[in-house]
Amino acid sequence: MTQPFAGLKQFALLLALCLVSGPSPAHAAFIIGHSYVPLVDWARANGLKCFWLKRGDEVLATNRTTRLVFDKDSRMVEVNGIDVALSFPVAADHGALLVAQTDLNTAIQPLLFPPRIADLKRITTICLDPGHGGKDTGNHTFWRSEKTYTLALALELRDQLQKAGFNVILTRTRDTSVELPDRPALANRRGADLFVSLHFNATPTGKNEVEGPQTYCITPVGASSTDAQGEGANFGPTMANRAEQKSLLLAYQVQKSLVRNLGAKDRGVRRARFAVLRDATMPAILIEGGYMTHPAESKKIYDAGYRHQMAQAIVIGILTYQRLVLPPPPTSPATTRPVVKKPTVTGKGGNKGSIPKRTP
Ligand SMILES: [Zn+2]
Repeated sequence: MTQPFAGLKQFALLLALCLVSGPSPAHAAFIIGHSYVPLVDWARANGLKCFWLKRGDEVLATNRTTRLVFDKDSRMVEVNGIDVALSFPVAADHGALLVAQTDLNTAIQPLLFPPRIADLKRITTICLDPGHGGKDTGNHTFWRSEKTYTLALALELRDQLQKAGFNVILTRTRDTSVELPDRPALANRRGADLFVSLHFNATPTGKNEVEGPQTYCITPVGASSTDAQGEGANFGPTMANRAEQKSLLLAYQVQKSLVRNLGAKDRGVRRARFAVLRDATMPAILIEGGYMTHPAESKKIYDAGYRHQMAQAIVIGILTYQRLVLPPPPTSPATTRPVVKKPTVTGKGGNKGSIPKRTP
């Protein structure tokens, strides 16, 4: 019989997972000018228990609904199975892990406790931004240009969002050049409630290994962006920082939906001050839908059926986000709240910013 054996294995695993408990041996600290707090203290205050997955290196903070995995020296935290970029690496002190207060405020709390805005109006208009266009081809592999597939995905996504009841505007509907500042400017001018920029990725090295979607939102004030090619020393606030928490939540829900519904490899929620993100006044994200340089993933990107599935996943992410940020419906049973239709399930088929400068 396998059941008792499985029970023993679970018991052994529980023994191996030593509970991180008792008073924290570490104290709040300043590390390179940033305030850090002991992870175990923050977790306890937020109803989470901590366990060592790897003593001194990896901690699981968990409760009935949440599973966070922190790694020493890492700038990524796993939030319910999806990687989310931190602004500062997880630190260690006296064998305990410390997390930057900025990251608790800007990367973790907004996901665990989504900001519900009492007077938030329902999402009606979504601005889609197909990356590149015209002379700007975007990534180019063999005879394929990124600009072709970002437009194809945007048109597919437009159709699905319209079926779900949204108004949709696009920064381009044909193979035309659109200046970077004009893209968020259009969304601002037309009063869009969300801005979604669409791109596909490429890598010069590791072409057979690097694959999967990643989703960007604005970098918190005072932090550097996720990738080494961050965008320079301007760490001050941008227009987009006003909607920063909602942008993170939208990026997370879309990334989670892409990974789960496409069965894709997770390359995480990341932060950047891309030109198309930083001037948006509404929640804004930039999706890199996968790698045109990966032999298998590129074939999918060029397939209309796969782009249809990708659009469906993005719609599901947007609907989940909407459900989380809208205030709860009135308690009266006779509610007249409008119903947003779910996307239909029928199978058919750099200008993310200026070329980012290096962060010091
Ligand atoms: Zn691009």
